[in-house]
Amino acid sequence: MSAFDRFDEARPTEPLSTARAFVRGGEGEAVAWGQQRLTDLGFDVGHIDGTFGERTEAGVAAIAEGAEPQGRDAMQAILMATVAPEASSGWRWPLPGAPSAPITSPFCWRQGRHHDGIDISASRGAAVGASRAGTVIHAGVAGGYGNLVVVGHGQVGNLGRVHSYYAHLLRVRVRDRQSIGALHRLGDVDNTGNSFGDHLHFEIRIKCSAGQAFTGTAVNPCKFLTRC
Ligand SMILES: [Zn+2]
Repeated sequence: MSAFDRFDEARPTEPLSTARAFVRGGEGEAVAWGQQRLTDLGFDVGHIDGTFGERTEAGVAAIAEGAEPQGRDAMQAILMATVAPEASSGWRWPLPGAPSAPITSPFCWRQGRHHDGIDISASRGAAVGASRAGTVIHAGVAGGYGNLVVVGHGQVGNLGRVHSYYAHLLRVRVRDRQSIGALHRLGDVDNTGNSFGDHLHFEIRIKCSAGQAFTGTAVNPCKFLTRC
């Protein structure tokens, strides 16, 4: 079984522009932010000087869990290492009728592109539920995502505004700006957009702009879902 999707070129702009500074010799406020976080976590990065040097990279490598200690992965590792416990708890498995559905593609680099969510294999028509209460901020077609619902969850812990994405749906059962509770049925599993095989593509983005889909930074949903 190969549930494999690929986003098209029309997909939203690079959400992690600041990650460009997270390479050896990179500089800027974002790097200083990362150095401060690493220091808070107990790593000795030397001076917080906004330059991504050897010691900063070593600090990232220590928390990156196998990811590249530079670039986008570095930013990701630092962000996730500093998530407050109250922000990562309370998220529900988005396929309430399929509690043991397998994850067929993890959050990872895949053939030279980053897969920004997880793919969960499920039957066509299976109910897709909101992982957390919130407000619908996108309900309809969106390029490679096919039929997509994006739910805004407001400020969550220290993550800023958090949005969750439910892609490749057969049918969208909610409308823009609708308020919904956790596990409210958003739509049904299908294979729309750039997708091969019926599955749910589930994504979580943090530090998003209010009410605007396709903003923020994708993070590993398995840091939030206890079932993963
Ligand atoms: Zn996917």
